[in-house]
Amino acid sequence: MTSHPTERIVLAGGTIHDPAHGRDGVVDDIWIDGGTIVPRPAEPSSFRRIDATGLVAMPGGVDLHSHVAGPKVGFGRRIAPHLARRADAPAAVPTIHATGAAYAALGYTTVFDAAIATAAAPIAHLELADLPILDKGIYLLAADDQAVLDALDHDDRGEAQRLVGAAVTAGRGWSVKVANPGGSAFWRNGRGDHHDLDTPLPGRRLTPRQLLVRMADVVTALALPHPLHVHTSHLGIPGNWRTLLETMQSLDGRRAHLAHVQFHSYTGGNLDEGSFGSGVEPLVEYFNAHDSLTLDVGQILFGGTVAMTGDSAAAEHLAHATGVPWVSHDLHLSGGCGVLPITYKEQSLVHAWQWAIGLEWFLTVADPWRIALSTDHPNGAHFTAYPHLMALLGDAAFRREALARIHPAVRRRSPLARLDREYTLQELCIITRAAPARIAGLPGKGHLGAGADADLTLYRPSRDLARMFAMPAMVFKAGRLVAEEGHLRCTPPGVVLAAG
Ligand SMILES: [Zn+2]
Repeated sequence: MTSHPTERIVLAGGTIHDPAHGRDGVVDDIWIDGGTIVPRPAEPSSFRRIDATGLVAMPGGVDLHSHVAGPKVGFGRRIAPHLARRADAPAAVPTIHATGAAYAALGYTTVFDAAIATAAAPIAHLELADLPILDKGIYLLAADDQAVLDALDHDDRGEAQRLVGAAVTAGRGWSVKVANPGGSAFWRNGRGDHHDLDTPLPGRRLTPRQLLVRMADVVTALALPHPLHVHTSHLGIPGNWRTLLETMQSLDGRRAHLAHVQFHSYTGGNLDEGSFGSGVEPLVEYFNAHDSLTLDVGQILFGGTVAMTGDSAAAEHLAHATGVPWVSHDLHLSGGCGVLPITYKEQSLVHAWQWAIGLEWFLTVADPWRIALSTDHPNGAHFTAYPHLMALLGDAAFRREALARIHPAVRRRSPLARLDREYTLQELCIITRAAPARIAGLPGKGHLGAGADADLTLYRPSRDLARMFAMPAMVFKAGRLVAEEGHLRCTPPGVVLAAG
């Protein structure tokens, strides 16, 4: 079967999940004309009919926090040969073409790379031009630029807006990410320590807390589609739940998106009695009560992968703690990344806690519209593991079986055993499509109303959710059939999503 961009088609009789329009399992037809969903036409005879009877129809998946392009990903492909070529799983960091093909085969049609140094934007876009099928955007690490830091330090909001706006325009960015506020300045000044929110940046009066708040205001003033994307201080450090709580409090009603909160929700360390564990409860209580904030989880799943972070201090710490090779790069003295291989193990106390903490976030956030499913690919797990994660959320029995295999101390102490919530199909649709599209600021995506991009996925329903979501029956991108039963049917180029 082939389809063409200008073709008119109707997907007839599918079971529709379109949370933005309150349609939860409604049997109806979806009319597509020229890559866009249209109302039922007065003259339907020119629409080619595709039978969707018995299939579940959802908008195409939207991944608002992933790592697929740029220098860090290039290093990631090379740092661990045993993870690049393996018989039982895709390469931990696939080639750009394989990345697009695997996302599309999974039913995903939009992806954002969440950490591109402004100096790396041109090379990231060269690479993204080769990412087939998906629409794609980048968040720029604009707060690592010296001139931006100067302006923020002087609290010259007008100059900061001018500089960040110019960086977003020149780099064709979608929004702005702060990766460990001030982290690259500390790192380059030989201070690869884990500075807190109130330690001034080397040679400045500006603190990381002020940097976050002022950048959130800059992004709001620029009216970028997606609010400031925040990876706060102390990633991966015991006791860092306090830092995330303070981060949320400091933002004080400002819109912001909190990235990979799983990596920021740990008890332990000097300030907490007792050992490493979950700090989710007070964090989720605050989050649930403050709807200016959204988040993605950065779930870890067990197995081997490659970690890559704009937070070089965190990468160095982790590599030294686990005795693996690592690489760090810095671009024109403005931002960079640390990259290292990692294997998450069920019987590791720390890894088991990380797994349980991520799931605890998913299962205790009250409003699914404020949470996006992610593994921070490839940091927590490969994006091809999303169906497994969806089964952990939607099938409590499946989750209990997995819980029974992890480190016994975590099994005993984690609240996970008491959480029997199961995500419905509609809620899984929200956290993988409708919510990330809304949070990212994509009015034409994440829903199936008239005027939406005709990006959609047809699944064969199954009680085995991992199987159901791993292999859609059909995937359409801008009205074209791009994948069918795991096979690519065509590879249109996709569109670069750039603000303004
Ligand atoms: Zn990330």
